[in-house]
Amino acid sequence: MRPLSRKTVARIDLDAIRQNLDVVKSLAPGSKIAAVVKADAYGHGLSQVLPALDKAEILAVATFDGAQRCRDFGWQGRVLVLEGPTRADDCQAALALAFEMVIHHDSQLALLRQSSKAARQPLWLKLDSGMHRLGFPSSRAKDVHGQITELSGNEPAVLMSHFACADDPHNPMTQAQISVFENSTKGLAGNVSLANSAAILNFPESHRDIVRPGILLYGVSPLEQQPAQDIGLKPAMTLQCELIAINRVKKGESIGYGSEYSCPKDMNVGVAAIGYGDGYPRSLKSGSPVLVNDRLASLIGRVSMDMITIDLSDQPQAQVGDTVTLWGRGLPLEKVAACAGVIPYELLCGVAARVNTVVESRA
Ligand SMILES: *Cc1c(COP(=O)(O)O)cnc(C)c1O
Repeated sequence: MRPLSRKTVARIDLDAIRQNLDVVKSLAPGSKIAAVVKADAYGHGLSQVLPALDKAEILAVATFDGAQRCRDFGWQGRVLVLEGPTRADDCQAALALAFEMVIHHDSQLALLRQSSKAARQPLWLKLDSGMHRLGFPSSRAKDVHGQITELSGNEPAVLMSHFACADDPHNPMTQAQISVFENSTKGLAGNVSLANSAAILNFPESHRDIVRPGILLYGVSPLEQQPAQDIGLKPAMTLQCELIAINRVKKGESIGYGSEYSCPKDMNVGVAAIGYGDGYPRSLKSGSPVLVNDRLASLIGRVSMDMITIDLSDQPQAQVGDTVTLWGRGLPLEKVAACAGVIPYELLCGVAARVNTVVESRA
């Protein structure tokens, strides 16, 4: 096979992930860390990021396939399946591979009862404290806690819940959820886990025994008002490509599909090798920021499947082959996501499989 030649790459910085994990540890010094690596580690590549997460006590994934991959890639520590079992053989896999499971629904209690042996790992009891996505009603906490304790051979359950609005420090919802959780779990044995990234930053009182950071580990801020840099985070992914053409276009001529952008003057237009087929969103409009050789420039015209066009008026020295950065080091993902009208999570998870990854690490 030919060596990979397209220079459209996601650079994954393992030192950044290590640093971000340290930031989380210093924010929640009394808590264990369940590093959330669902959706292939938020698009960074699970196998690639694992070496940077060895100081996390637990890995949390959405599905059993994700949990299996953690073991395949050599992770021997604790693994938590956030959505829990949906089939009988999920419970078998949990026994065989020592997966911990979130139990949030009666259908899962039934699956556990069918499975012959008691779970050897702690089960996590998820309570709905007001988000109304997954979880047993808080009124059933005592009853279900009793059942789960029995099903796990008296291994105490981890008591968990999830916040709906923790990204807003002034929203009373989070305190209300904490109160619901506390009132319903009073006197029940077991560790407690409530906080995602936003709650780690905004609600220290929610840290408890185990925190569940996702986006923070990847160097992205979940808070609109607080840039990642101010929290001490470093972007783990830098998405880059190269200029494959530079063309001189006359004043009044238009660029790309729909002829949406009209040149206000004679200008140099760069064509870069990335598009919505790579996960660079088509919703980005003219004026959105990119970096050409680390200098700010603007997207012009529509995003195509494999290409974008860039205003190079201010960069007469730019050449074919030069590096274009779409987000990451020097250009916060949060800014690009805001221009695209999406959350940063969505851009990370949307990076397409054809984008090659390059892992960078000093350690
Ligand atoms: C995804 C997820 C997290 C992590 O969320 P971040 O906002 O990325 O920190 C934590 N807990 C649960 C249950 C999740 O599904």
